[in-house]
Amino acid sequence: MSDKILITIKELSNYGQVDNLNEQAIALVQQQKVNWELAGKNYAALSEVHKKEFDFGHFQIHAHHNPGRMRSSAAKTDPQSIARRACFLCADSLPPEQKGIPFQNDYLILTNPFPIFPVHLTIPHLKHIPQRLEHFFADMLDLSRQLSGFTVFYNGPRCGASAPDHFHFQAGKKGYLLIEKEFNSLVEEHAKAYFQKKDVEIYAVDNYLRRIIAIVSPNKNAIIRAFHFLYSSLLEKKDVEPMLNVLAWYEEGVWKIIVFPREKQRPSHFFETGKNQIIVGPAAVEMGGILILPRHQDFEIIDHKIITEMYNEVTISSDDLNHMINIFAQYR
Ligand SMILES: [Zn+2]
Repeated sequence: MSDKILITIKELSNYGQVDNLNEQAIALVQQQKVNWELAGKNYAALSEVHKKEFDFGHFQIHAHHNPGRMRSSAAKTDPQSIARRACFLCADSLPPEQKGIPFQNDYLILTNPFPIFPVHLTIPHLKHIPQRLEHFFADMLDLSRQLSGFTVFYNGPRCGASAPDHFHFQAGKKGYLLIEKEFNSLVEEHAKAYFQKKDVEIYAVDNYLRRIIAIVSPNKNAIIRAFHFLYSSLLEKKDVEPMLNVLAWYEEGVWKIIVFPREKQRPSHFFETGKNQIIVGPAAVEMGGILILPRHQDFEIIDHKIITEMYNEVTISSDDLNHMINIFAQYR
């Protein structure tokens, strides 16, 4: 990796506070908005994004019409298409304007030039290795702790990652996803199952359009252990990652991890033709309650019924969630 990619703390200090990694990351986004035309244009466009709010009783789904996300929502992620394109996360192929901050000698913190959040980071591994969370979950916990103003998220290679060939996390401004605001009432009033195990609390939620498993603990090793238990219970084939999206944030000394086990990469609406087609690529952000629609026509017709159908198709079934609850009942 060329040193030209790394930005100095001195340069960052022109764009904000730089006392810790969190402040440095926010300053980086500011620097890129000023010095990288693509980022400047796309962050400015974010304030123009139209939004619709859909009320489902104890939760909401918001639809955002965000044309800048077309590249990601409609991304072709089959092996042939991936092999034909240059990797946009390898350090040596980044545009000259793009700058990064190193993390733990293994990652580069970058500004996402196609934002959903007012501050939106992409955090690729320095090596071009496939997207698979199994061996890197502990890094997600470290990142979420240090990036205290962000929620860190992970999209599986068949669950919304537009670079399934290059391991990466993303992070967005904390508190922006609806599930973060709904989390306490969800687990306290709507959990289908709750387990208090040694040093860790585990919740399963069914009544939320998406079915989720949440793991809460101040103890890093306890979370890692519970996550690996969950991961291996979802594992069907040894070499293929279970379909999932994961969110992680850290507040008041406690990690909150939400796992969305998935049934499908995309809903059937994506594969319709003509006016019935909806361009959508459900990933962690969508599972978190913000439905990104790059096309105006899709934003126009989206309603409660379509939202319900799409989430139902991509989340795991109620039977599968029950199966996982039974497995977790055995967890020690
Ligand atoms: Zn790469």
